[in-house]
Amino acid sequence: MARGALDHAAKDIVGEFALFRKIVVSDARVARLYGRRFARLLSSPGGAATLLTFPSGERYKTRETKARLEDRLLKLGAGRDTVVVALGGGVTGDLAGFLAATWHRGVPVVSIPTTVLAMVDAALGGKTAVDLPGGKNLVGAFHQPVSLWADVRLLRTLPARTFRAGLAEAVKTAVALDAALFRRLEADVPRLLLRDERAVERIVARCLALKGRVVAGDERDAGRRAVLNFGHTAAHAIEAASDYRVSHGEAVSIGVVAEARLAERVTGLPRGHADRIEALLRALCLPVRLPVGLDPKRLTRAMSRDKKTRAGVVRCALPERIGRMPAGAEPTVPVDATRDLLPFLVRN
Ligand code: NAD
Repeated sequence: MARGALDHAAKDIVGEFALFRKIVVSDARVARLYGRRFARLLSSPGGAATLLTFPSGERYKTRETKARLEDRLLKLGAGRDTVVVALGGGVTGDLAGFLAATWHRGVPVVSIPTTVLAMVDAALGGKTAVDLPGGKNLVGAFHQPVSLWADVRLLRTLPARTFRAGLAEAVKTAVALDAALFRRLEADVPRLLLRDERAVERIVARCLALKGRVVAGDERDAGRRAVLNFGHTAAHAIEAASDYRVSHGEAVSIGVVAEARLAERVTGLPRGHADRIEALLRALCLPVRLPVGLDPKRLTRAMSRDKKTRAGVVRCALPERIGRMPAGAEPTVPVDATRDLLPFLVRN
């Protein structure tokens, strides 16, 4: 965590990668707000930094956008001595990270998250990917950032709805890993809604520490790391079935509630815990029900394409209580998507 992250990051990158070509990747909105200034900060006597942009939004987290960025790198003559800086939200992080993971079989990437969602979750852990028309994050790679700079002041320009959407991932982390964080979120609702920077910083720092520990134990997502997928079997399906009109954070909010209800039956989540989770998300002004008009068939089809699906059976990571997931290296359980999960998603 660092106030003035852009200046600190620029100094660090210029020092660490003095002779490297510096490529900043941002979506169009972040490029306008911060990208141009940051590229200037990064430019050194060793060479100017180049800002590459793409249109904002999940719809552009695609192979096509990545190919366009690769064409730009080729034209620039970018070699292995290239460092990519992902400056933006989770979409930029996933896309720029994947670009860095495959460019010349892998060049370093620095992560500078600019949304709540990216700060509390997406920027850490090295998962990079693009979406396919049929599903989320289906093509990607593991590629850890060489450094991560988070500055909550960059969140001042975030639209209120995007700001709040990111808090859904903090709630997910709390339910999966830390009851004290959950209580802090409950107590801090008014401060978070007013964007009190100290309160936000505390949440970001705790989420990063918690996720860091899980990732360190299972970097390649071969087992325990799946605890972080609580809510996400439903969430990814909602995003895909809505053609990405529902944002990732809002989909996580709806998914967390549905999967908590399912957990009451499957893992014995005590009565009342799902109510508390739903109440917290509602207090944060987040959606907890599907928007009208989503086709249930598209939801089940999307769930069957989830990356956690094994031998055609959908799996969910479900908590045992707030702050605790089932022990063991395989924290997901098989569920019948149509019979078990769908009813919690399509109820009124
Ligand atoms: P996003 O990157 O699309 O950002 C949301 C919107 O906010 C965009 O329009 C963007 O232009 C704008 N924006 C970003 N920073 C801003 C700022 N400081 N001021 C004003 N506007 C700003 O979406 P997101 O919610 O940050 O991330 C969602 C993505 O993250 C999804 O694709 C999801 O799959 C991915 N994700 C990845 C991981 C991971 O581990 N890799 C984890 C969670 C989520």
